[in-house]
Amino acid sequence: MAPPDQTRKAQTRKPAPDDTASRLLAWYDVHHRELPWRVSPREHARGVRPDPYRIWLSEVMLQQTTVEAVKSYFRVFVEKWPDVEALAAAPTEDIMKAWAGLGYYSRARNLKACADLVATRGGRFPDTEAGLRDLPGIGAYTSAAITAIAFDRPATVVDGNVERVISRLFSITTPLSEAKTEIRAHVEAMVPAARPGDFAQAMMDLGATICTPRRPRCMLCPLRGGCSAVVSGDPENFPVRLPKADKPQRRGAAFVATREDGAVLLRKRPEKGLLGGMTEVPTTGWTARVDGATTQAAAPFPGDWRRVGTITHVFTHFALELEVFYAHIKGDAPAGHFWSRVHEISGEALPTVMKKAIEAAIPGATKKQRPH
Ligand code: SF4
Repeated sequence: MAPPDQTRKAQTRKPAPDDTASRLLAWYDVHHRELPWRVSPREHARGVRPDPYRIWLSEVMLQQTTVEAVKSYFRVFVEKWPDVEALAAAPTEDIMKAWAGLGYYSRARNLKACADLVATRGGRFPDTEAGLRDLPGIGAYTSAAITAIAFDRPATVVDGNVERVISRLFSITTPLSEAKTEIRAHVEAMVPAARPGDFAQAMMDLGATICTPRRPRCMLCPLRGGCSAVVSGDPENFPVRLPKADKPQRRGAAFVATREDGAVLLRKRPEKGLLGGMTEVPTTGWTARVDGATTQAAAPFPGDWRRVGTITHVFTHFALELEVFYAHIKGDAPAGHFWSRVHEISGEALPTVMKKAIEAAIPGATKKQRPH
């Protein structure tokens, strides 16, 4: 048996970049996740290459959204619009409807703008980070991810999963918000010349399935031998985070009105701003004041309004509480509003917060219904 001091030395050595990449790739070959946009290592070895359109679409969807939530949306999109030309030819409204529920709706508008631009250039996506960054909705992270995954070119791809893995491998004690440059430098040093796309995906998969935020499964980790956080005994202490500030609270009221046949009154939000271009039930403004207009007196038109509940929704920069009121109304839709019939509601471009408001008044209304 090795003397204790030698054992410790072996355990605490810093990971060698080449060694890390080859261990990780060997692990990925066996344990990669099956994802609808992914070309598996076996397919890759057979010469199958990823479709840049599918990689771009998945990466835009994955900004701020989990893999599990994205899968079904991705399938719907590629079925409706199998290539970038088809997406460019689609009306913006149809894209917004298909995107409804994924959140961060400016992504859907940028998706359309990007598809339009790429379609006018012959349908080919640029294969460099700089070229990709010039397109709408593609920032530093997404351009690096597409370059690596779609074109198998070396790029430094750092998402939240990768930040966690690197923070732990190197026991980075600087708070995460200030450690970005350090983390990038470590990743950059690890990116292999061969299979950089698989390396990027392997890092993501390791963070998502083994080096998880809670209870990382270090016993199964291919990088365990070079991980200094595991030696410390508590990898969950990394990454180091500064305490979170509480989100400001805003309040308002939502008014769900139905017609005799069950149709729900809706309107479109302004193109610019939060949830821009999406569909909503009439609401008041959303204010930080406790005395904000949250009573039926704030209804945009007369009706026999009754309060049916309160819903909450957390946005990136604030938490929202909406009092929900419900009424049957007669006659035509007021100016700027339209009726959505029972079987049409599930297909409207309703963001999650609006689905919650409608469900509070009419349970099941936003689920798919058959036409009468
Ligand atoms: S050994 Fe544990 S903490 Fe270190 S990289 Fe692997 S899973 Fe993460």
